[in-house]
Amino acid sequence: MSDLWHVPGQQRATAVLRGAVERGEVSHAWAFVGPPGVGQQRAARVLAAALNCVVAGERGGGCGHCDVCDRCLRGAFASLWEFEPTGTFHRVVDVREQWLHVASRSAMEGRWKVLRVVDADRMNDAAANAFLKGLEEPPDRTVWVLDVADPDELPDTILSRCRVVRFAAWAPDALDARARELGLGDATDRALAVRAAFGSPVALERLAAAGGLEDLRVHRSVVRRIREDGPGHALLAARALEDEVRRRTAALKAAGKAELAELTQLYSGELPRGVAKQIEERTSRREREAKTLVLQAALDDLVGWLRDCLLVGAGGDAHILPIVHVDAVMELREEAEALSAAVLLAAIDRVLDTRLALESNVGTTLALEAMLLDLSTLVMVGVSG
Ligand SMILES: [Zn+2]
Repeated sequence: MSDLWHVPGQQRATAVLRGAVERGEVSHAWAFVGPPGVGQQRAARVLAAALNCVVAGERGGGCGHCDVCDRCLRGAFASLWEFEPTGTFHRVVDVREQWLHVASRSAMEGRWKVLRVVDADRMNDAAANAFLKGLEEPPDRTVWVLDVADPDELPDTILSRCRVVRFAAWAPDALDARARELGLGDATDRALAVRAAFGSPVALERLAAAGGLEDLRVHRSVVRRIREDGPGHALLAARALEDEVRRRTAALKAAGKAELAELTQLYSGELPRGVAKQIEERTSRREREAKTLVLQAALDDLVGWLRDCLLVGAGGDAHILPIVHVDAVMELREEAEALSAAVLLAAIDRVLDTRLALESNVGTTLALEAMLLDLSTLVMVGVSG
């Protein structure tokens, strides 16, 4: 058998799925519970391949190299759907008009439909109620896979109808191996990236990408720069974050334009209005989401730094403390000496509040400026007091 079922770091989860396929006991709804981006997508695609493989057959567990397996793994199989939120939350109109509609039809190809809901814990009440009705009357040979980062955000009525599979955060040695693959040769950089990724291979990729660690080092230096240069630096830092967003979402923008151009050519220069509009909407939605992710990652970096300061400030040998910024122990000590625990805690709260606010599409520029100015007030009072 091939390594179809190999999903890095998730042997336990895939063993459960594989056992269910091979025994012919595939639940009609699964909840993949765990931190985002640790292998849920690959696992759902493997499940689709195993159920539809033309070589191994229905209970054969999938061959991993036939055309069907190959397309399932690439997400290009007509009976495999991946629903992403079309706004901050999944909308009831999407649940009714897309998810349940697709579920009620017979498989476009193959034997089984696999319908994956990305960020399923981001359904609002109306969407969750509509979806529950679909779950209560499961169509034949249809498997729902719900990605759930926070089970508390999903109604029990939905969760109780799913078989739960746990997806684990990656262990440091798995992240370290991945960091080497991604080309992080320098041991200091690699140690920093592995710790700052907090078990997420997606975060690790961001850090290992060009400029990723430089950005992290800029984010963590914000408080020190404000201490040294005063509140003026708060506004500079806000502007720098906006620049970073532009830099990191430029590729998405270009991809959207390229897709439009390619399709226009396919339609010999006359793209139906609806199609063009759909692509434009999808591109701008992805840009919006990417922007939020970039900013949230930046705020996470800042919170990680402030937490490290608290740990170091509480005393003890910095070399055995579970700190993230292992390459900057001297700077951590300095910052911890300059700022009291109360100031650090207040700063962490302020950053986390902003992180939450970004999820609800607030004006990001204003939110960031306000946060950084508040931080400068906190820091300046902390320093002088
Ligand atoms: Zn196959």
